Amino acid sequence: MKNAIILLVFIALFQSCAITKGTENSTVLEAINLQSSVLNDELFYKILTELEEENGVDWSNGRMDKVNAQELSQYANNMSWLIAQYKEKGIYSTDEVFLWRKWNPFSSTRAVTTPCVFPNCLNTTKLNKWHLKRSKFSFTNTLIHERVHSFGAIHPNQSSRGNECDPSYVAGNLAEILLLYRHNQNLDNYDKILCPGLKSKLIVYGILNTP
Ligand SMILES: [Zn+2]
Repeated sequence: MKNAIILLVFIALFQSCAITKGTENSTVLEAINLQSSVLNDELFYKILTELEEENGVDWSNGRMDKVNAQELSQYANNMSWLIAQYKEKGIYSTDEVFLWRKWNPFSSTRAVTTPCVFPNCLNTTKLNKWHLKRSKFSFTNTLIHERVHSFGAIHPNQSSRGNECDPSYVAGNLAEILLLYRHNQNLDNYDKILCPGLKSKLIVYGILNTP
């Protein structure tokens, strides 16, 4: 009897950890489709380029160590490389986004992506099922963020705090804010910590109000 209970618990645990398709969640599906709006928005690239020109993006601490150095050397700077990746490789398709439940329900992990290690790039990402109660704009933030890892860039630790100016956080937060702005949403209560350079640029462009 005891063994049967252990087996049942194991099966329940295994099933809840099982990987399922992202499209089974309607909000995730909307976010998958919203990625194109971001990648077709010239302001997305303009702001990223200007931030790079002002040295506002943090590429330090081995963030680009997994990117092929020869490939990278073909670009004027790291941001030109990143923009080229978005333009050439595009969005995550509906077949490339999955849902999975992290064993730790208290983890703040929103998603995991195996970083591309040249030339083996896996174009998939998994969203954590413990964090599914959020908006389509928030999910798009995560997808645009995880895409940076799928291109090969990584960050030294998994905390958003202290990584605000990491390229994946900058791109993801910028994507979410541009979507909110384009959809006439109120940005006064936007609560994610922003890279200071990104924040001042969004204020200059009249997208965010001065606090
Ligand atoms: Zn990340």
